[in-house]
Amino acid sequence: MAKRDYYEVLGVEKSSTPEEIKKAYRKLAIKYHPDKNQGNAESEQIFKEATEAYEVLSDEKKRKAFDQFGFAGVDGMGGPSFNQSAFTGFEDIFGDFSSIFDTFFGGGGMGGHSGGGRGRIHRGQDLRFDMTISFNEAVYGVKKEIEFNRDAPCGTCHGSGAASGSGAKTCSSCGGSGQVRRSSGFFSIASNCPSCNGNGTIIENPCGECHGTGTQRKSQKVKVSIPAGIDGGKRIRLDGQGSAAPQGGVPGDLYVYINVKPHDFFERDSNDLLCAVPISVSQAILGAEIFVRTLDDKKRKLKVASGTPSGKILRIRGEGIPMLHGNGRKGDLYVKLIVEIPKRISSKEKSLLKEWAEVHGEQDSPNPFSLNELRRM
Ligand SMILES: [Zn+2]
Ligand SMILES: [Zn+2]
Repeated sequence: MAKRDYYEVLGVEKSSTPEEIKKAYRKLAIKYHPDKNQGNAESEQIFKEATEAYEVLSDEKKRKAFDQFGFAGVDGMGGPSFNQSAFTGFEDIFGDFSSIFDTFFGGGGMGGHSGGGRGRIHRGQDLRFDMTISFNEAVYGVKKEIEFNRDAPCGTCHGSGAASGSGAKTCSSCGGSGQVRRSSGFFSIASNCPSCNGNGTIIENPCGECHGTGTQRKSQKVKVSIPAGIDGGKRIRLDGQGSAAPQGGVPGDLYVYINVKPHDFFERDSNDLLCAVPISVSQAILGAEIFVRTLDDKKRKLKVASGTPSGKILRIRGEGIPMLHGNGRKGDLYVKLIVEIPKRISSKEKSLLKEWAEVHGEQDSPNPFSLNELRRM
């Protein structure tokens, strides 16, 4: 599928200001955010596309490169962060996203208020982990342990950011709400309190270990269970396994993106499997029973009719790929028969074939096949 132009994705003009670009992205991000559209692949796609476009167009340098050279200009600049290679681990995909939400909701925060004017609840960053699995692991499912770095709650202050015993003090500028309001025309606009950064509290004596953030970069191991039938490009969400929020709050989620290695013999088409096997000239002419190896290494009998042309496709029902959450239902296996022409033959074979050719008769100026005939082959 051709990639859509970043400006087109966000629905903005090439001459748009950074503010207009931000506004357009904000609108799309709120509408199509995966949290609000769980399991909806289409809105996930739109969200991803918009985020990628925003990552590039919001960065002056990347935008310039994109304007000048198109996608080639921003490849590898970290713009399209969705084509990182396998097992490079992980990155913050919604890095800019949470801050957009903060400004949009005036610090109300994605986590919402917890009553009593207690300021914003932080949400940790969502993280991405790229995982490559084998073809068979994707088909039959697998459990894997992954290791990655994330911001974990600081062990010394247990995530509060305050040195032991000191705690946090209610911000006097905003009275703990984390917001200050000012009037502008008909509206009263709330914005983050500059004194406490919208937290509602101020740490006077920050923890020495994390310098008040409440988080520490740590290596983390998580078990991921990959369901049978998953296809490449899908992702698995692990609730709360993303980065911890600063100064205590809701942790982000971890998204594991699945990449599937190709198989030597089998190709996948949705839930069906395709493979090609050779048959001999005489098997094609006379018909035969052959045995085809399935993906799980069983042998299945296949009847080749006499007069089978090369390229004929036969179906073995139920030997395909389990449908994702399909209660054991499976697709089919399609076997393409290729008539193999021997490159070297013995003199005995040669004389037999010559004899056969004489009996059969041969044309030395054949007519082309009609297109109808070709279609029936
Ligand atoms: Zn700490
Ligand atoms: Zn404040």
